[in-house]
Amino acid sequence: MTELYDLHCHSTASDGALSPTELVQRAHQHGVTSLALTDHDTTAGLTEAQLCAATTGVKLITGIELSTNWQDKCFHVVGLGIEPTYAPLAEATNNLQSTRLERAEKIALKLEKKRIPGALEAVKKAAGDGMITRTHFADFLVSQNHVSTQQEAFDRYLAKGKSAYVATSWAELELAISWITGAGGVAVLAHPLRYKLTANWMKRLLTAFKDAGGQGIEVITGRINADEVKLAADYAARFELAGSMGSDFHSAINPWVELGRLAPLPKHIKPVWELLD
Ligand code: AMP
Ligand code: MN
Ligand code: MN
Ligand code: MN
Repeated sequence: MTELYDLHCHSTASDGALSPTELVQRAHQHGVTSLALTDHDTTAGLTEAQLCAATTGVKLITGIELSTNWQDKCFHVVGLGIEPTYAPLAEATNNLQSTRLERAEKIALKLEKKRIPGALEAVKKAAGDGMITRTHFADFLVSQNHVSTQQEAFDRYLAKGKSAYVATSWAELELAISWITGAGGVAVLAHPLRYKLTANWMKRLLTAFKDAGGQGIEVITGRINADEVKLAADYAARFELAGSMGSDFHSAINPWVELGRLAPLPKHIKPVWELLD
């Protein structure tokens, strides 16, 4: 059987639409042989995912996608092969749940001022025990017909600079990486081209990332064209980072992003899974 890695996706433990079980089953159906569940700031879905993986034959890689700050901007760092019970990481995810709840209260207040009541109750209900994310707010705004798509919800209300945006202080990049490496994991810079950095800022970011112990970069993500793959691969090669691939699958609503539907990693890039046991 050919190996197929998908090392970035979300379940209902954060802003994904599928439960960990449903996610693993769907990955299996799409030919994924190794799956990393990487929910935003939580490892709560991993136990369930592991149970299902064991019955389907999918290899589950423990993961997380941490929200971090570097130079006052937000960057996502995926941790792969982490031990979720590592105390500093477990404590951090615990704190992040409160951070996210407090941010949600502030976002809801801003929406109320825009005469959109009821958001907090709705997102709490939708998130359940999981992390509350802006995706939950986007879904609420769609359900109340304030916008017609998630994208429009971000463009009009939730994105940086928009009326319901709330700046959040996440952990500094270096600290977040230390939680991952301390937990025995490999830190991977998620979707590097989504930050729209100049080459110069990218160089500074990747230097800081490596100095802090980061070892990988996503070269293949769900929606990426050949030019973007080349650019991301060039960064991997230049900064001697291993290449990762992950769909960043959230739900079946976006037909252009599917579990396991990924271009191959360019041959000259060291695969990040070679760093995992
Ligand atoms: P949060 O971590 O709560 O700030 O939410 C971030 C999540 O919102 C991301 O992981 C995406 O899933 C989603 N998101 C961010 N920006 C956009 C956007 N412009 N359009 C659609 N979804 C977005
Ligand atoms: Mn998300
Ligand atoms: Mn992300
Ligand atoms: Mn993600």
